[in-house]
Amino acid sequence: MDARRHHGHHGRHRQHQDRPHRHHYDAEMLSVEEARERILGHFSQLPAADVPLLDAIGLTLVSDLVSGLDVPPHDNSAMDGYAVRAVDVATASESSPVSLPVKSTVAAGDAPGATVDPATVVRIMTGAPIPDGADAVVPFEDTDELERRANADAATDVIGIKLAAEPGDNIRPAGEDIMSGEVVLPAGTEITPGALGVAASLGVTTVPVIRRPIVAIISTGDELIEPGQPAQLGKIYNSNAYSIAALTRSYGAIPDIVGIAQDTVDSLVALLQRAMQSADMIVTSAGVSKGDYDVVKDVLAQHGRIALWSVRMRPAKPLAFGTLNTQDGRKVPHLGLPGNPVSAAVAFEQFGLAAIRKMMGKPAVDRPAVVATLDDDVHNHDGRRVYARVHVYANASGELRAASAGNQSSGAMTAMARANGLAICPHDVASISSGNKVRVEMLGWPSDDLLASALHNATTPS
Ligand code: AMP
Ligand code: MG
Repeated sequence: MDARRHHGHHGRHRQHQDRPHRHHYDAEMLSVEEARERILGHFSQLPAADVPLLDAIGLTLVSDLVSGLDVPPHDNSAMDGYAVRAVDVATASESSPVSLPVKSTVAAGDAPGATVDPATVVRIMTGAPIPDGADAVVPFEDTDELERRANADAATDVIGIKLAAEPGDNIRPAGEDIMSGEVVLPAGTEITPGALGVAASLGVTTVPVIRRPIVAIISTGDELIEPGQPAQLGKIYNSNAYSIAALTRSYGAIPDIVGIAQDTVDSLVALLQRAMQSADMIVTSAGVSKGDYDVVKDVLAQHGRIALWSVRMRPAKPLAFGTLNTQDGRKVPHLGLPGNPVSAAVAFEQFGLAAIRKMMGKPAVDRPAVVATLDDDVHNHDGRRVYARVHVYANASGELRAASAGNQSSGAMTAMARANGLAICPHDVASISSGNKVRVEMLGWPSDDLLASALHNATTPS
């Protein structure tokens, strides 16, 4: 059934006319993109610090990492075998091996210095420096090494080479991977495990990166108790702080769960003051929807600026954004999320992630999106963009499907737990029926079994 027939333009228009009396902040509806743009205007890149390698994972390099050395530092053997002069073994074959005296052995870690004189060889291990004079390595498999070892009477100071070698065979030249003076990781690179490995291979222990943002998280509401406290009639557990903190950490920032503010001015002020001391961003949940926003709004207005917005999205229509003034003259951005757990998580995903990425010096990106075929209908009742919680999977023929992740109520966090993506129904589309294609913003990268299909189906966001 077409939801817009019931809640079409007339219905929506009337609602809007009623609103100013009770929800004066509702005067304008922002698109998700407009809201995000306004929010991002209040964030800038954080300063850099020298950070120990492993702590730098996911952070942005602020200056070019230039190599002070060649990697590898010297020509070395790619195989266990014999370092030879190619000319000495030019006639070698399986049926007529060339026998040459073995002068010495070099192992990985030995300093360079051995020499291969004409018509001699040096036994060499993988990673060991190539002796002067040698220009190729013949692997053990292409010699009679194994036969000699099996035969107790065989001489060990001679080896039969069974394969001709070309100069350069099985030699990894110095600087093959990295040349001294080369910019190995340019400024702006995100430190991935691979980049971290490169930095370590240059011998450095720290890298200059943009520091991690600290995100202070305050939950508001008299009904809240902390996990660990005994259940009480009328109270619910503060889950928002944990889901927001978990998202914060997954984005690479540092969550600081400040606590629960009661619906009183004093309580909220006390927590805000604590949060402001170190936070780069303050996130509150609840108290921004109709009726009970007054405390949050009043307190924030006294300590800075606050705007209450209505965003054309479902869930998470009500959103607050402002700045708080610290005593030392800084302005700390404040994001006020709705209280409903799914709304808070979806809003943080849409706005918090972008803000954190900007502070971390990372480019604005959309979540990886896939196009999937719906198993269940997605309805749009009131002209907002719907972010439906779905589970995307690849069916037997490799087609990406999106099934409802369960109860789509903005209070039902279990659907968020089951979901791996948010299926998007545009604000001007009343519904998308099962069997039709839908764009899904993946919450994190799809799992491996989805990736192959996803790569075929991916489109750029509209
Ligand atoms: P509000 O935005 O204050 O109207 O809250 C909307 C709904 O979210 C209410 O049912 C609240 O009890 C619930 N809620 C608010 N804060 C939290 C929280 N920190 N954790 C879980 N649920 C919450
Ligand atoms: Mg409340």
